Amino acid sequence: MKPFWLTAPISPQYDVVVLRPFADAKRSHFETVNDVSRYSKDLESRLLRKPKPCRTESEILSDCRHGYYDCEKPFCPKCARVFRRWLASRTLRLFGKRRAHVVTIFLQEVAVGALHSTDPIKLRNRLRIKLMRAGVEHSAMVGGIEAGFKADRASWLLHSHFVVEGDMESELRRLEVGSSTSRVPLMIQALNEPTAQLPYMLKFHSYHRPTPSQRAYPLKPTQTKELVRWQGQYAFQDFLFLRGLRRRGPDLERL
Ligand SMILES: [Zn+2]
Repeated sequence: MKPFWLTAPISPQYDVVVLRPFADAKRSHFETVNDVSRYSKDLESRLLRKPKPCRTESEILSDCRHGYYDCEKPFCPKCARVFRRWLASRTLRLFGKRRAHVVTIFLQEVAVGALHSTDPIKLRNRLRIKLMRAGVEHSAMVGGIEAGFKADRASWLLHSHFVVEGDMESELRRLEVGSSTSRVPLMIQALNEPTAQLPYMLKFHSYHRPTPSQRAYPLKPTQTKELVRWQGQYAFQDFLFLRGLRRRGPDLERL
């Protein structure tokens, strides 16, 4: 049986593909089928680089791209696009017309080579506890856990982006960030452009932004392999953070 996110109906009014269509300015559109096919090929070639090529993962990418099956792997750009499109549609429906804040919070730093020692499910729990201590636990929230590569520190910064319903800014400012080496350990922004902000609560890409220009560069093969192996141990939903909501079939409902 196919997972709910692969077959979920998406209403055009909440469809990020309709709301953020392809345009000349590369950053302003939601990824297209052609974009993810290109990312998938590029990722496959990085995974096949010596030493220690990731043959299993690169074969999965190739088979999924050629339509033999839907691999449902978080590292697959084609499948991630479908999952993120589903998530964006439900998040836009729930939060698009409401007062809310978008939060980015640093959770953990691990050295290059040690990403396997961390776990998105444990990080979700860590975030849940932080929110409880800050007094934000009763609001509806949607977001996710991501690993960002920091070349200058040779480390991974595990962090979360999530949207919080209501006027919770002062409570959110109480979130504990601990001893963080992240440049901005806690960022809180008002949700004022839902179609630009909400589709990016959860990403799985293998790029990093090492320069002040924030331009995206592909990760080097070694880091690409580490990230893909880590993501490949989990399902998409393991990276998804929900509070005050439950999933019923393909829909998210307030509790
Ligand atoms: Zn796939």
